Amino acid sequence: MYYCIQCAAIHAANGSDKEIIFQSGFHYVAGQRYHAGVCQLEVHVPEIQHTTHTTATA
Ligand SMILES: [Zn+2]
Repeated sequence: MYYCIQCAAIHAANGSDKEIIFQSGFHYVAGQRYHAGVCQLEVHVPEIQHTTHTTATA
């Protein structure tokens, strides 16, 4: 388990080559200490915009 600073979330380390876990860096989440790391997965955080409010004037 490590804290991914890219996703700002806890990940389970799966031994992927792409994972970087900083052995000297830590992050505390809810009182638990986790190594900080980066999963290096593609960052795709789409801002889904589904708010098309039509103002009807009746
Ligand atoms: Zn991540």
